[in-house]
Amino acid sequence: MQGKWQNPHRRWNPLRQAWVLVSPHRTQRPWQGEVAQKAAPSAVTYDPACYLCPGNQRAGGEANPQYDSIFTFVNDYAALLPDVPTQVESPTSLLLVAEAARGLCKVLCFHPDHSLTLARMTQPEIRRVVDAWTNEYAELGATEWIKYVQIFENRGAMMGASNPHPHGQIWSTGFVPDEPAAETIAQNEYLGRNGRCLLCDYVAEEIRGGERVVFENDLFAVLVPWWAVWPFEVLLVSKRHVGAMPEFSNEERDALADALKRLTTRYDNLFETSFPYTMGFHQAPTDDGEHKEWHFHAHFYPPLLRSATVRKFMVGFEMLGMPQRDITPESAAERLRACSETHFWPRA
Ligand SMILES: [Zn+2]
Ligand SMILES: [Zn+2]
Ligand SMILES: [Zn+2]
Repeated sequence: MQGKWQNPHRRWNPLRQAWVLVSPHRTQRPWQGEVAQKAAPSAVTYDPACYLCPGNQRAGGEANPQYDSIFTFVNDYAALLPDVPTQVESPTSLLLVAEAARGLCKVLCFHPDHSLTLARMTQPEIRRVVDAWTNEYAELGATEWIKYVQIFENRGAMMGASNPHPHGQIWSTGFVPDEPAAETIAQNEYLGRNGRCLLCDYVAEEIRGGERVVFENDLFAVLVPWWAVWPFEVLLVSKRHVGAMPEFSNEERDALADALKRLTTRYDNLFETSFPYTMGFHQAPTDDGEHKEWHFHAHFYPPLLRSATVRKFMVGFEMLGMPQRDITPESAAERLRACSETHFWPRA
C-alpha cells in the first residue's frame, strides 16, 4: 500500500461536490513541534460545578433531575429560537439579503457519569442514546415548521466543547442547513443520472476494495472516505438504504451502537487520549420532500494529526483555496485498523 498515491493529487468528493488536495510527500518534512504525551480520561464521576450532572442547577436557574440514564432539555443559551417573527427587516438590496431563522436547540446528556465518553460507555448504554436520538429525530421532524434535525457531538476542549460531561446537541431548523442541502443536491443528481443511490454504490465499492475500510459489522461500515479532509476523518454508513434513524430495525439500532463503541474506542487508542472530534448524523430532511435519494450516515471530523496534542489547522490555502491533507486516507485507515477495540483506560 505504501508508494501508492504518494504524489500530490486532488480527489473528488461526490457527496459534497468539492475537491480535496492530497499532499502525502509533506509528511516527510522535519517536525520540530510538541512531544506527544498520554492523556488519561477524567476520573471525576460527579462534578458539583457541572451544569449537566444529575441534580445540579443550570445557568438558566433550572435544576437537572437525578437522571440515571439519559436526559434531554432545551439549551439555556440556544443559538436558535422557536418563537421569532417570520419576517426580518432587510435592506432593499440585491446584495444585503436576510431571512428569518427559526430553530430549537436541545442538549442530550448521554450518561449521568461525568467521567464517561461514548468510547468508555457499554454498548447497551450507547443503545439508549441511539434510541433517544431516534425519538428526538422523529418527534422534532414531525413538527410542521422543522425542516431539518441536526444531531451532533462536539467532543473535547480542542473542538470547543465547553463541558467534558458526555453529551451531544440537537439543533432543529426551519430551513435545511448548507451541508445537508449540498448533499441533497448531490444525492439527487446521482440518483437521477444513474438510477441508483450514491452512498449505496459508494459503500459497496469501498467494501469491495477494502483499503479504506476501518471495520464493519453486519449492518454498518466504518471507513476513511476517499475524499477525507481531516487526517482521521471517518464516514459511518448503514449498509441498507435508509434515510433516517426511525427506519432502523431493532438490530440496526444495536449495530449502530456497536459501531459507535468500536470506532470511538479505536480513536481513543490511536494516541492514548480522549480523542476529540465533531461528529454528527446526516439524515433525510424533514421537509415535505420524499427524499428517496437520502442515505443515512455519520461524519466524524477529528482535528488530531500526529499525537494527543498536535492538531491539523485549516488555515492559509485551506481557507483561501481548498482543503488539503498530508497523510493519505489509505494510511489513516491502516492506522485505525491497527488500533485495539479494547479501551486503553478501562472502566473500574
Ligand atoms: Zn457532569
Ligand atoms: Zn442508499
Ligand atoms: Zn453527510
